[in-house]
Amino acid sequence: MTKLPPRLDIRNLKRSFEGRVVVDDVSLTIEPGQVTCLLGPSGCGKSTTLRMIAGVDMQDSGQIYVDGKLICDTVFRIPPERRNTGLMFQDFALFPHLSVAENVAFGLSGSRSEKAARVRELLGRVGLARFEESYPHELSGGEQQRVALARALAPRPRLMLMDEPFSGLDNRLRDEIRDETLDVLKQEDTGVLLVTHEPDEAMRMADEIALMRAGKIVQRGAPYNIYNAPRDKEAVGFFSDIN
Ligand code: ADP
Ligand code: MG
Repeated sequence: MTKLPPRLDIRNLKRSFEGRVVVDDVSLTIEPGQVTCLLGPSGCGKSTTLRMIAGVDMQDSGQIYVDGKLICDTVFRIPPERRNTGLMFQDFALFPHLSVAENVAFGLSGSRSEKAARVRELLGRVGLARFEESYPHELSGGEQQRVALARALAPRPRLMLMDEPFSGLDNRLRDEIRDETLDVLKQEDTGVLLVTHEPDEAMRMADEIALMRAGKIVQRGAPYNIYNAPRDKEAVGFFSDIN
């Protein structure tokens, strides 16, 4: 059997703002069902990298492939809505005037009954089946976050791009939602790029960590390996406050 191409393959991405390089020759691959955490301090270029993959920003050079298909280089660009990617940010912004079910159905196509079935499936997975008819303001922060996850996954994206999606939640809830999110993502076999500045989040969620500093990926590997054998002293410092 021939090997499938990676879900995400970015090659030599570069991006500068006002003459300053903020993403510097970043290459990365993510396999289907794999969670990769882009981990690094604030300002190192994580969100810029994710925004280019999402298609809301454009690289100065380099290529982005999803499932082996070129979606963006410096001359060719598929628009964000046709990239088969789901997005989740800290500010998850559900539509306030739509019910939970309508929020989840928002990006779906197909017949009414197909959409309803998919909405029910996903709300069941995130444990919110009984909230179909509720409105976002009637839900807790954690519940809203679960709806946002269901909404992002509804169109079966091949790739989920998550930028610090849990940072607005309090500690106890955050652990719970992280675990639940992982469960749901694994069931859907989505490739995941999760951006975070929190080592413990990366340790908890990643199959692979890509450590980023000052625009560059300085080390890639399984969480356990990076934790035990950080390659440079920045990486050591980064992990020293995990307990
Ligand atoms: P991170 O997500 O790792 O905190 P970002 O990718 O948001 O970092 O930002 C990396 C650097 O690029 C920062 O110094 C930031 O100020 C700068 N930057 C990001 N977007 C822009 C922009 N649109 N214009 C100018 N500078 C930007
Ligand atoms: Mg950021």
